[in-house]
Amino acid sequence: MEKQYGDYFNLSHVESSSHIYGPGKRFVVWFQGCALACNGCWNKEMWSFKDKLLVQREQLLDRILNTSNIQGVTFLGGEPLHQSSNLWWLIRKIREHSDLTIFLFTGYEQEELESQNNFSNILEFCDIVTLGRYQEDSRNTNQQWIGSDNQSVLYPDNSREAGQPENINQVEIIIEDNESIRILGFPDDMLINEILN
Ligand code: SF4
Repeated sequence: MEKQYGDYFNLSHVESSSHIYGPGKRFVVWFQGCALACNGCWNKEMWSFKDKLLVQREQLLDRILNTSNIQGVTFLGGEPLHQSSNLWWLIRKIREHSDLTIFLFTGYEQEELESQNNFSNILEFCDIVTLGRYQEDSRNTNQQWIGSDNQSVLYPDNSREAGQPENINQVEIIIEDNESIRILGFPDDMLINEILN
């Protein structure tokens, strides 16, 4: 299911520096819009396909390429593959102009990806892919890069990344200049209480 925004991406938000969505320090892009509707999804505010943060694809490419000291770029959401034409363009450009590795989180299963050209092209150009719907009854917050046990972490044939996910729950706390706090990842209730009190 492709959603068209011309040569713009419809995004939820971006982080130019994060350490919990793949190996090393990474630029992270959350896409806006997901039709897969997994039960218990933690990102329901990213289901809507209405315009949220429209970013011209050249501008996003420039911003990524001009971010220093990152190892790679991670795409998640929402569902990045609902904007697969622009994503395919962006991944090719990143690989053409840099050594940054590509990590894609998608709710699609491997068979679904392999049956569609755009998806299989993207898959081949990724270094790591987390695949599969989120299943609430198999929720797992203690392993990196998955949300539930049914999901798998795939390293396509030409992957340049070898690091395997570890059995840990990673949380990132970002304190902005105005002292507001943002929490990335899935902290347990005890940690949230400690942070807020
Ligand atoms: S694929 Fe991801 S964003 Fe979409 S419904 Fe499932 S868990 Fe939520």
